[in-house]
Amino acid sequence: MLRIFTAAAPPFMKNGYLVADQRSDAAVLIDPGDEVDDLIARAADQRLVVQAILLTHAHLDHITGVAQAKAAFDVDTWLHRDDDVLYRAVEQQGLMFGLRVKAQPPVDRFYQAGQQLTVGGLTIAAHATPGHSPGGVCLEVRDDGATELFVGDTLFAGSIGRTDLPGGDYETLIRSIETVLFAFPDDTPAHPGHGPSTTIGQERRNNPFLSPESA
Ligand SMILES: [Zn+2]
Ligand SMILES: [Zn+2]
Repeated sequence: MLRIFTAAAPPFMKNGYLVADQRSDAAVLIDPGDEVDDLIARAADQRLVVQAILLTHAHLDHITGVAQAKAAFDVDTWLHRDDDVLYRAVEQQGLMFGLRVKAQPPVDRFYQAGQQLTVGGLTIAAHATPGHSPGGVCLEVRDDGATELFVGDTLFAGSIGRTDLPGGDYETLIRSIETVLFAFPDDTPAHPGHGPSTTIGQERRNNPFLSPESA
């Protein structure tokens, strides 16, 4: 069982996650955005020590809290290399939405294929799932035999990520979901970047973009 704390803030209502195992005080922060103050406060009151900032992708709503998170925890930020151009263009991304957004500190580490990160009792793998953005990943987080997925904007409860932003591609997104996410068992929890959590089985059966009936 993971310990998972989430928060979201307007205008994007993007889920930021603070994730820890059951026994240690080690935690990771996933996709800190405008809700980052809530997650930092939660880490303090749960006495969790954040050891890494893990990004599922580099759209602005998922990264605007990186500077504050780094100031609070002084840890490395991880991203897939293929989203680094987007990451560096966060101010321009803001302009597309009519928002003034601050540049964020450079990414420290790029995920490598097949690499496993260990944080406290957690084992984490970043699986490339391009389609919503070129360097999108889904994070597989394991603790004591339990596996949960943090799927960013690749998959939502009853929907899928948009593919009309720069670098997005619909066919690629569907292939990522079917080959990477649907390889996990039905009871695997999936925590999206927006909206409620779901399971792989729920989406395999009922997601109108993915269910066999819609093919
Ligand atoms: Zn996105
Ligand atoms: Zn998003």
